[in-house]
Order: sequence, then structure tokens, then C-alpha cells
Amino acid sequence: MFSIKWDDMDLGDVSFSDLAGSRAPARVIDHENVAVRKAAVKGTVEIIADMILEAKGNLVFLTGAGMSAASDIPTFRDPDHGVWATRDPKQCGTKEAFVHHPERLWTVLMDVVGPENDPKPNLGHKALGDLEALGFTSTVVTQNVDDLHENAGNKDVMHLHGNLWRTFCVACGLQGTNTHELLRTVKKVDLPPRCDHCHGVLKPDAILFGELLDNSIVDRASDLVKHTPLLFVLGTSARVTPASDFPIMAANHGAKVVEINMERTQLTDTCVDVFMNEPLEVVLPQIVELVRQKHLKKDPLGTSMFTLLSSVLNGSSKMPE
Ligand SMILES: [Zn+2]
Ligand SMILES: [Zn+2]
Repeated sequence: MFSIKWDDMDLGDVSFSDLAGSRAPARVIDHENVAVRKAAVKGTVEIIADMILEAKGNLVFLTGAGMSAASDIPTFRDPDHGVWATRDPKQCGTKEAFVHHPERLWTVLMDVVGPENDPKPNLGHKALGDLEALGFTSTVVTQNVDDLHENAGNKDVMHLHGNLWRTFCVACGLQGTNTHELLRTVKKVDLPPRCDHCHGVLKPDAILFGELLDNSIVDRASDLVKHTPLLFVLGTSARVTPASDFPIMAANHGAKVVEINMERTQLTDTCVDVFMNEPLEVVLPQIVELVRQKHLKKDPLGTSMFTLLSSVLNGSSKMPE
């Protein structure tokens, strides 16, 4: 029998330390009966939509490899299928290797991400972009080095591990042509691509093995996490710092935490209020569509222009039966 374990917590003036001992366990959908499960998913979608509607402040979405999986992005560190599973990162993926043989990393990139398999945002990315367009200001803090969140319309995207699609010159520091364009125009024999100004080597702006994260990005992300009313953990097991600290940090500062992952993680039982193990590209559009409908009922005039536009643009988006 499915039971609702999740209670709405009114934080009021109560500090987290008061709550820590009595924190409600995460609402988890865990039932093999298809009909029961379907009803539970629908109910949880509604709970999450209401959490978004009630949240006052900037939402934070912490995303990882699972977010881009439906876009056929190769995951770099997956031990079985990742890019480094069949290549030696010491030979081409470290800072040291890049200094001596920059063409090796560029060759890997050309083989793996371009130009004929240029990934596109999936319905999960698009749902987050749509939510922002509805007026729910949000920041995406991502461990992904792709630019699919930006392409789906999110304006504030922070890349903890850098952005593979931006490049800079290692000699003069100027920004170079973007990686998409380089992989389309430069021939393999001419790798690595070079700076237009000083002919220095161009480096993708992603963190390589042996490189440190950008402190200013980590600091700003931490600050946003401490002030958000609602943090989502999407498609990441958040096993490495600093990403692993963010959900706990948010919960300690009174935020509610929603986790959508294909498997339970170390976070599920420690700081998560609502957990779903459903594909992101399926449930995120359902959640955002429900937010849109409910938001519209509350504020029909203010959003009429958006409704008009979105009904033209997304004529096919429907809630599941
Ligand atoms: Zn070489
Ligand atoms: Zn240069």
C-alpha cells in the first residue's frame, strides 16, 4: 500500500537544528504495482509543482550527467561507456598532457562531440528554460560541460567544471572561436586550433584532470544555495565536492530539496524532502506544465501574453492522463 510520508514543513522561526532530529523522511515512490505507481507519480508531480509555486526566491537546479543523458552526450567519466573508458586520460585528458600534446584532447573532442553529432537540448532542459520564461527566476548550477541549458533558454547557468564549448588562448588569454565552430571548420591534421591574434594554442574552457575548480564560481553557487527556498538535484549522485555539499547546505538553511534521479543516492535519506526516480525528460515537462496551468489560474492577465506565445510554440505539450 502506497502511503504519503512527506509532510509539509512550516519552518517559521524554527532553526534547522531543532528540526534535524524530527525531519520527515523523503517522500519516495517505491511500488511495483503499475497503477499505484502511476497515481503516485502524478501525485508527486503535483506536490513538486506546488512547491515551485509557493517558493519565494531564486530557485536553484543542481544538474549532472543524467540531465544530458537523453541528449546523447557522452559522459566523460562513466567507467563502462564514458569517453575515458576507451582512452587513457593521462595521455590526453590531464592538464599536463594538454601542455605537451594539445592536439590529443582536440582529437578526442572531434571524435566524440562533433561536428556531426552536435547534441541538442532535450525536453528536460527545455522544461527548465520554460519555467524561467514563466517568471520563476532560477539558477542552474551544473557539473556538465555542455551548453544545453543555455541553448534551452536558461540565462543564469554556472558551470562548476567549466564549459567545453568556450575556448581561450593559453598564450594571450583572449577568448577564442567556440568549440562547435572549430570542430566544424578545422581539419583534424591542423589540430590544435590556434588563436586569431597571437597564434597561441586554444584550450576548451573545461576543467581537465589535475585542474582546480574556479573558486569564484563555487563561492557564488554556495551563496545562492544558502538563500534559495527550493533546490533541485537532477541527474547527479553528487558524490564529489562541491556539488555534494550543496543539497545539505540548502537544507541546513531551510530550503526544501527535491531529488530526481534514476537511483537513490546518499542524499535521498539525509536531506531530501521529495525523491522521484523517473526520467527527467519525462517528468520535468509534466511538472512545468502543471506549474504553468496553476500559475495561469492565479494570474490570468499577467501571463496572457506568455500563454498566447507558449500555446503557439508548444502546441503539443499536454499533461499525461
Ligand atoms: Zn604532440
Ligand atoms: Zn592568443
